[in-house]
Parts: sequence; C-alpha cells; structure tokens
Amino acid sequence: MRPRYLSAHEVSEALREGNLSPEDYVYSIYENIRRLNNKLNAYISLRPVEVVLEEVKKSIKIGGKLSGALVAVKDNISTKGIRTTCASRMLENYVPPYDATVVELLKREGAVIIGKTNMDEFAMGSTTETSYFGPSRNPWNLSKVPGGSSGGSAVAISAYLATVSLGSDTGGSIRCPAAYTGIYGLKPTYGLVSRYGLVAYANSLEQIGPMARNTMDLALLLSVIASYDSRDATTIPGKRPDYYRTLGSFKMDNLRIGVVREMFGEGVDKRVAKTVLRVVDKLGFEVEEVSLPSLKYALPAYYVIAMSEASSNLARFDGVRYGFRAKIEGDWNTVYSMTRARGFGWEVKRRILLGTFALSAGYYEQYYLKALKIRRLIVEDFNRAFKDHGVLVGPTMPIPAFDIGEKIKDPLTLYMVDVETVPANLAGIPALSVPAGFVDSLPIGLQIMGPILSEPLLLNVSAIIEETTGLRNLLPPGA
Ligand code: GLN
Repeated sequence: MRPRYLSAHEVSEALREGNLSPEDYVYSIYENIRRLNNKLNAYISLRPVEVVLEEVKKSIKIGGKLSGALVAVKDNISTKGIRTTCASRMLENYVPPYDATVVELLKREGAVIIGKTNMDEFAMGSTTETSYFGPSRNPWNLSKVPGGSSGGSAVAISAYLATVSLGSDTGGSIRCPAAYTGIYGLKPTYGLVSRYGLVAYANSLEQIGPMARNTMDLALLLSVIASYDSRDATTIPGKRPDYYRTLGSFKMDNLRIGVVREMFGEGVDKRVAKTVLRVVDKLGFEVEEVSLPSLKYALPAYYVIAMSEASSNLARFDGVRYGFRAKIEGDWNTVYSMTRARGFGWEVKRRILLGTFALSAGYYEQYYLKALKIRRLIVEDFNRAFKDHGVLVGPTMPIPAFDIGEKIKDPLTLYMVDVETVPANLAGIPALSVPAGFVDSLPIGLQIMGPILSEPLLLNVSAIIEETTGLRNLLPPGA
C-alpha cells in the first residue's frame, strides 16, 4: 500500500517501529500534491519538502500520539513563521509571531504541519469560492464545490494530500466540506477546544475541530487538541477523556436515536434524505421521530448573530499594525476606508455592513436581540429532545454538492445550504458528519448531534456507522 493511504494512527506506529521510512511517507504525499494540487487548489501555503522531512525525522525520535504524521491546518489558525492569510488579500503576507494553542498541542504530540489550507475568506461561506486565492475543487467531481468554509482541509484529506487536518466550524464549516468530500468531521462542544490563535469570525459560535478519513483518526486528533486553555476564557475547565482509547468500549445497548423531523423538510433533496434514513435504519438501535419546532428560525438567527459578531471582530483590520494597507495619502478615515474597501472581498464586506446595521441603535432589539431569544429557544428544544434520545440525526447538507459558480452570485440561496448545520453552533452542542452513501456519484453526509460534552458517545456512534456502511478511507477517482 502506498504510504499516503495510511491513517494517522498507522503512520505514527510504522514510523516509530521502522516499518516505514520518513522519506517514503513524506515523498508519497508530496508526489500526490504535485500531481493534484494544481487542479484541486487545496493549499494556500505548502511548506518545503526538505523542511518537513527533517521535522518528521526529528519528531519520530521524540515520540507522541501523532509522531511524524502530516497535518494540514486551515489558514485561519495561527502558525508561527508560516503565513496565515484567512484566504484574504487583507492578510496575504501576514506571518504570525505565535502558534495557536491547537498548533502547540499538535507539535507537542509529534505532528508536523505540512501546509495551510484554502478556505472561504475569513471562513465566510460554504463552498470555498470566496477565497482570494480561487476556489478549491471537489476531488469526486472537479466541476463541483468541495463545500466550505474548510474546503481546503477537506480536499487535502479526501485526496490524500495530507494524513489528517484541522478545520473551524462557525455554522457548519467542518461538517459541510466533510460531507461533500466523503470524510469525517467533528464540530466539538463549544469550549472543548481552545480558540486562542483562531482568527475570529463569530466567536460565540465557532470551534476548531478534526477532519479525517475514518473515526479512529478523528478521535485521535480530537484527543490531541481538546484541552482547557488559560488563554481562552471560554474553554471548559478540567481534563478531557481520551477519545481514542474509549472508542469501541462504550455501552450503547439502550441508545435511542431521534430523527429530527425539521431536518427532512422542504428543500431537502429526497435522495439525500433516503440515503441518510437507510443508514439509520440499518444500525439496529431504537429510532424515533422527534420535532424541534424552533429549528425553522435557526438560519435567520444564525446569520444575524454571525454577521453582528463579524462586524465587530473584523474592525481590527485597519492596515495600521499588520496586514494590507491601501497605498494612498490622506487622513485616517480615508486610509482606513480604502484599506478595507480593497483588502476585503465582497462577501466579507456584505457581512460587515449587515452586521453593523443589525447592531445599530433602533435595530438592535429588532434583529440582534430577537436572534438571541431564538437561540435560547433552540437550546431548550435540544435539551428537551436529549431527555429521551441519546443522539439526534439528520442530513449534514440538504442537497448534494453543486456546481462551482452555481450559487455564489445569489447569497440567500447559498446561505440556505447551512440550514442543517447551524443549529448545533447556536446550541453549542457537538455535531459530527459521517459518510452515508452517494447520490449521483457524490458523497452524502449524515449528521449526528449529541448533548454538551457527549463527544465519546458521538465518536462511538460514528464508529458503528462506519462499521455498518464500510465507508472509510474512501478513494475519489484519480487520488
Ligand atoms: N456557511 C456559514 C457562514 O458562512 C458557516 C461558515 C463557517 O462555519 N465558518 O457563515
């Protein structure tokens, strides 16, 4: 088997025991990148092969849970000495002086960063088309979107251009591209993973999370990055369980699965719904339909909150201390305005404007406050449903991957594809996307949601689904 096809847990062991040479592993992946990345556009920055090879050799000696494994990191996660652009002209040449906490943790366990992945600009989007560096492409069909905003991280994994990857998920950005490229992706409980060093888009909603080709790697990567962090006051105190070790040892005999009625409603492709339900029925657990009525307001509430937070978070990009600055003379207002007019793309500017509007005097109560009230109702709906059901399921995406260019000109129709993923972010609960099958030769994702801190349960359900479907380490044509 070619070394690039190995899973993270296999790579570390094989390297440590000398059954795999660092050269064979690293060259196997770089060769594939050379062959495919021009088409797929998964990476914004790729580190030189010699540097990476040296680091792999060193890290094998040191050891660790991920020793020697090549990890691709979304380009909104701060990496010391490696350009971190957020796929924006604004940060095109920004090289951070520090590592995000998750990157520190990866390095501590011997992982080696191979490069930084393409994404929607500042993580605003669901297709990777708003990137300043051009769209990524879906390895299953090059004319289709790979999903977003962590599209590059998903493509890198699904096309075997890295072994595992990190994404970030504000309203579905890990789960959407995971579903569209046939891999596994987890948005952790809010506060499980440190956001220190993640460039903020909407901080009350987002989490960094793992992306992988199978459940074991997903659990392994989560066990490395999940931790309390004194530098992120929103992280939950206390030790995290070993998600990797507990895999398979979980008692689930009386698990009841709730199928969320609202997630199979209007706008959901019938073939997608069928694919998901067929898998759920095969698992052998008790399955019941549940209703979460407030979910019909989730999408507008999400966009009001996300844009409001974005308008405030992105105010820091002023061209004064770092990042792009418009080359013009003038007073502060002029330079600030022109810097932002030229440095940000359309989607980012649209959201800053709408968010500023939603927070302005007179409209605050009408939009932002109302959205917060809906958020509370959604939390209550989930709490009620979790009293009787261990996990809830639905499709990850309402429709299969669509053509590049098909929706990007019409923001509202594009926002609609997030309808299944945003509820988990509003409620702060963990949600995991697993491959469920194919429609028109494109992968379809099944979404599992659980109560706060139920990651061990979600990962065990994911492992059972993986076992049932056999859909692991999928190989797109040409990869
Ligand atoms: N598509 C959603 C948005 O554009 C979610 C993006 C994300 O999770 N970062 O806001």
